[in-house]
Amino acid sequence: MSELVIHNARVMTCDPARPGLGMIDHGAIAIAGGAVRWVGDDADRPRGDSTLDAGGRLVTPGLVDCHTHAIFAGDRANELAMRAAGRSYLEIAAAGGGIAATLGPTRAATDGELAALLEERLAAALAAGTTTIEVKSGYDLTVAGELRLLRVVAAAARRGPQRIVPTLLAHLIPKERAGDRARYVTELCEELVPAVAREALATSVDVYCDEGAFTLDESRAILGAARRVELAVRGHVGQFRDLGGAHLLAELGARSADHVEQIDDAGIAALARAGVVAVMLPGACVQLRLPVPPVEKLRRAGVAMAVASDLNPGSSYCETLLPQLWLATTHYGMTVEEAWLGVTRHAARALGLAGPGTLVAGAPADLVLWRCDDPAAVPYRYGVAAQLIERVHVAGAR
Ligand SMILES: [Zn+2]
Repeated sequence: MSELVIHNARVMTCDPARPGLGMIDHGAIAIAGGAVRWVGDDADRPRGDSTLDAGGRLVTPGLVDCHTHAIFAGDRANELAMRAAGRSYLEIAAAGGGIAATLGPTRAATDGELAALLEERLAAALAAGTTTIEVKSGYDLTVAGELRLLRVVAAAARRGPQRIVPTLLAHLIPKERAGDRARYVTELCEELVPAVAREALATSVDVYCDEGAFTLDESRAILGAARRVELAVRGHVGQFRDLGGAHLLAELGARSADHVEQIDDAGIAALARAGVVAVMLPGACVQLRLPVPPVEKLRRAGVAMAVASDLNPGSSYCETLLPQLWLATTHYGMTVEEAWLGVTRHAARALGLAGPGTLVAGAPADLVLWRCDDPAAVPYRYGVAAQLIERVHVAGAR
């Protein structure tokens, strides 16, 4: 097992045992067999079979994107144009746009077409440092179709190289089932969720609990079904209206509450008590011109915050976390440290992963060598992955 030692590096460990970002200013890291074997001061580094001089530059954990809708066909650039001309998300949905506009192309695409589109997006994410990525289903909305999407995701996960975390998303009620809501929800609970668990096609179930999507009671039923088959739960809550989703997620021990533009103080306290990660999705927030989530209140309550791309064809067609780091620090008022933890350790926690998102002995050797030495330089030069990134390793392999 040959060992590579990266030395003369500014190592951001994100080690929970160290304060802040766990920076080691004159650091080194030894990797072998796909894992981190050692990390510490350069002066104490092991010899290794090969070495790489980082030139004093930054080495961080590979980025973790904990919220994407990366499997879909078609595009909705016209909606950006409509929004730019002043129409709202709900008006665009009423005019046949929104999520419904992605259903047709996605349902019509072959498995091979969907796989090719997904791979292209995964490659773009990897080139921008994302080594672990969550992918949600949710653009078919039939039992068979959602299972198909998750099988395409599973095949991509087997091919690698990234770590892919699949999630079943209960996105909304399709138009053809609008008169039949209760039966549709029962179908999700009694057919889709158990089938996903049986085939091990996802590790968690996410529900969109908001105006225009699922009610609080429907969300409770769907997430309850997930808990019964031992799947983790998450939720899109409070993007447009606070329906009380944060309380439901806290009560169910959810991994994350995502969006939370609208959340009251009691909801924040509930997330804090239950240790639920709040996932910030600034790209979608800006594009939809929504108010910024209450970051200062979340911080004061001690809620861990993650930052994700929300890659989706409607409100955030963006494969990379770099613009999200920029928006998190500029538009959301997160500190550089909070933003970095949001795309590393806290994002991994939202996915139920320990190891990815940190550089500590035993963690997978997923890392990025940057062309800068200052963590603030990454959100600062947010648009230019190629200029910022020297190399990316997943499980030790470049
Ligand atoms: Zn989303």
